Amino acid sequence: MRADLLKKELNIFHYEDLLLHFPFRHIDRTQVNAVIDLNPLMEYAQLQGTITHVETLGKLRAKRLVAEFSDGTGSMELAWFQGVNWVQKTLEPGLPVIVYGRLSFFNGKPQIIHPEIEPLRTAEAGARPFLEPVYSTTEKLRAKGLGARQIGKLSFQLLANIQEKDIPENLPGSIRKQFGLIGRFHAIRQIHFPQHKDEYEEAVKRLKFEELFLAQLRMGLLRSARHRFSKGVLFDKVGSLFNDFYHHHLPFELTNAQKRVIREIRIDTAKGKQMNRLLQGDVGSGKTIVAVLIMLLAADNGFQSCLMAPTEILATQHYRSITELLEKMDLPVRLLTGSTKAAEKRKILSELKDGSLKIIIGTHALIEDPVQFQNLGMVVIDEQHRFGVEQRARLWKKAVLPPHILVMTATPIPRTLAMTAYGDLDYSIIDELPPGRKPISTVHRYESNRHKVMDFIRSELDKGRQAYIIFPLIEESDKLDYENLMKGYENVKAYFPEPKYWISMVHGRQPSAQKEANMQRFVSGDTQIMVSTTVIEVGVNVPNASVMVIENSEKFGLSQLHQLRGRVGRGADKSYCILLSGAKLSREARERINIMVETNNGFLIAEKDLELRGPGEIEGTRQSGALNFRLANIVQDRAILELSRNAAAAMIEEDPELEKADNLQLKNFLQHKRGSVLWSRIS
Ligand code: ADP
Ligand code: MG
Repeated sequence: MRADLLKKELNIFHYEDLLLHFPFRHIDRTQVNAVIDLNPLMEYAQLQGTITHVETLGKLRAKRLVAEFSDGTGSMELAWFQGVNWVQKTLEPGLPVIVYGRLSFFNGKPQIIHPEIEPLRTAEAGARPFLEPVYSTTEKLRAKGLGARQIGKLSFQLLANIQEKDIPENLPGSIRKQFGLIGRFHAIRQIHFPQHKDEYEEAVKRLKFEELFLAQLRMGLLRSARHRFSKGVLFDKVGSLFNDFYHHHLPFELTNAQKRVIREIRIDTAKGKQMNRLLQGDVGSGKTIVAVLIMLLAADNGFQSCLMAPTEILATQHYRSITELLEKMDLPVRLLTGSTKAAEKRKILSELKDGSLKIIIGTHALIEDPVQFQNLGMVVIDEQHRFGVEQRARLWKKAVLPPHILVMTATPIPRTLAMTAYGDLDYSIIDELPPGRKPISTVHRYESNRHKVMDFIRSELDKGRQAYIIFPLIEESDKLDYENLMKGYENVKAYFPEPKYWISMVHGRQPSAQKEANMQRFVSGDTQIMVSTTVIEVGVNVPNASVMVIENSEKFGLSQLHQLRGRVGRGADKSYCILLSGAKLSREARERINIMVETNNGFLIAEKDLELRGPGEIEGTRQSGALNFRLANIVQDRAILELSRNAAAAMIEEDPELEKADNLQLKNFLQHKRGSVLWSRIS
């Protein structure tokens, strides 16, 4: 019964899980307060004195027990609403006791509801730890007698019954020595029942290090194994397609960062091992051209490539810009999406199968079953966070040798996070924008100044520019947001009447053909204003657009705001981002808006986002729990994160199979999910 509840409520299945259910804090039981010193800022109080008076008040269900407690400096009230009869029997007025509990104030006087009371004699006998652990629990568990204290008792009993051999060490002695880490057994004891604060801190340090080290070691070992053992297609020559394009058709000089990334990829793909690489580059840093050059490299080596985008709009846009780039080359490129016509689709499928089509661009339509490649060698995935890991795996299955994979993302992931969450991938970064970009001016305006904002938009439109006005639509099914968008659209229309101005509207409820047509009218300049939800967020490129207005900007997350802002500032003109908001802003919303106003740097913004929201919420991070640590927090524990990362990297470099004597216990631990001891299940 208890076991079932522990499983259901706290995921505690084994005794080991119980030991790893760490207390979230400790109460210092060495501190005794005096009644006279109690104040509303104190959360808990521990007092020593006597019960001077006990009485029951009320009747039946409203019955309660009230006791007066005094310690010589003053007196206060203790009260019980439950277990009244039982408690009453245990209270002996006049005997010295220790009272402990959560402090409350009623009419300015201190009281404790449901205090813990112990006779002073037992307390003195040292029967309880000085630092008492407090565990998270749930209402259901509490109701079944598994409150925070009872969990503590279980842990205490368990720890009293196990020895060092039951919790074997997993870190090599050399690492423990290097970083001054205590043993695993002691760490687990001490995190539950420390004798003093230092013991607790030693334990936390050791266990956080272990957690971060193991996570990064696991990822690093996967990566190392791929480097050493995977078989991949070989791109061993740079041929005429790549060279011809590079020397004759590149529309601009590549930035140094672009060149560096292309070099990294070329080296990787020339090894005969499978490449698995994450390419990060802020919005507008020029990832597309990198993808194009790499696909040409694949074609030079006789392999097919596909480029997958998360939405039809994006896939279509990639298709357009890539066909334009490759216009002068004799190399067909095709587009496959959900709305590709049947005849065209049939043609594409047969060309992919017989190998005559080398480059295909599309949406998830590319991973549907009928699509078969002759020899897929390169997969580029744009804006990966919308592509599931599973979906990607389906694409791999289409080849004998796994294709190289390049995942491109403009959702900046802070370096710390990227190297932890994606430690099994290789990592490239474009940390330089193409020259000549003018920084985007970002301002914050309240709703009440809407007309001024509209006037400003008008002045830009009259100069021949275009503008985006973005509305929040968190869920496409959200009725309120939807009505808001429609109202907003009517509003914009009133400010910008036809036929002088034309407006496109795009949102997720439209059929994709309509979305596409409206988008296209804006891209070609037929409409000057794009009223839209975040469906246009990623990757859309309209260089003539110079104003981005974000309605209800307080509703958006930081990385989303940054993505949206990245839609402007793509042409030669000075661009503006205007964040509209209501007058009432939460502290976080205000902070987000301030950060946006202060910086254009996507990586700085990502760091801030991580700080504000915590790692669990960051868009684009894996759901696999790679960042869900019990103790460690990759923002606050950055120092330990880096130390442990370096230690893991050094170990993999030195002993990738973990064969050295000092590393065997670690290897053993990694191979057995639960360490080397078979823990009995809690029943
Ligand atoms: P993102 O990294 O956001 O996908 P894109 O690949 O769409 O960026 O590039 C953004 C714009 O910058 C495009 O118009 C592209 O042609 C242009 N661009 C890319 N690289 C360079 C460069 N080295 N010099 C000048 N313009 C560039
Ligand atoms: Mg892009």
